[in-house]
Amino acid sequence: MNRTLPVWLTKRVPSPDTVREVQGMMRDAKLNTVCESARCPNLGECWSKKTATFMILGDTCTRSCGFCAIKVGKPDAVDTHEPQRVAETARSMGLKHIVVTSVARDELEDEGAEQFAQTIRALRAEIPNAIVEVLTPDFKGKRWCIKIVVDAEPDIYNHNIETVERLTPEVRVGARYRRTLQLLQTVKQIDSKVYTKSGIMLGLGETKGEIVTTLQDLRSAGVDAITIGQYLRPTTRHLEVREYIHPDVFDEYRRLGEEMGFLFVASGPFIRSSYNAIDFSKKILADRLASVG
Ligand code: SF4
Repeated sequence: MNRTLPVWLTKRVPSPDTVREVQGMMRDAKLNTVCESARCPNLGECWSKKTATFMILGDTCTRSCGFCAIKVGKPDAVDTHEPQRVAETARSMGLKHIVVTSVARDELEDEGAEQFAQTIRALRAEIPNAIVEVLTPDFKGKRWCIKIVVDAEPDIYNHNIETVERLTPEVRVGARYRRTLQLLQTVKQIDSKVYTKSGIMLGLGETKGEIVTTLQDLRSAGVDAITIGQYLRPTTRHLEVREYIHPDVFDEYRRLGEEMGFLFVASGPFIRSSYNAIDFSKKILADRLASVG
């Protein structure tokens, strides 16, 4: 694979002052973001607009997915004060749509579900009416863990399928394609008012037909919103990029997703689960968003 990035994957350099400001807020509050931990290519852009995605339950993951740059190892004990610090920092940043994700915590009995629930509650108390989106691990498919999170009433429950069924064992260590679909279905079964969302990365060697099947599977699982982006290799230790997908092809998938009936489709080379996540809220929860102080 040619290592030179195509022109559509070059990014404008952001304003360093605002980026440093967000970084300072996270350091002061001893919080982690997936933006930094996963080496997201949008960090400069998002942080210069003062948006970031909180990553709870520490900075160390118990899985080692082939695409992900997050540190792997034995995590620290759960910090029970973390939910309140997330809420206070989100308020200081002026966020109206807050995205909270986490590392996988396979060693915990509840897989970290209670920490998600506490974070949702802290955000509700700190920023009434704000839109809360969670992006959870698969909790090994445990229904009672999914229920803990759904019962805390997030507005949007996101869980990424990441890739097509054939490539899942290679790309997502410990995860299963069908279990992801089941999780997304379970969220709707527990509370049909919660919007569900999922995301897929392209460029890992999947075929067009497999992508279409994955989108159909997600729609059949009742998923409301999808994000489709280009996989970029974080380091040479990670899976290789097999293909750089042209922006026109991303547009085709967006149109296809819309035709399939998804309420919201974001598709483009730099799309990530949480990139401009507020755009989905603007579409489905505009009144609530306008009422956030
Ligand atoms: S796209 Fe998401 S993870 Fe990446 S910098 Fe923006 S908010 Fe952070």
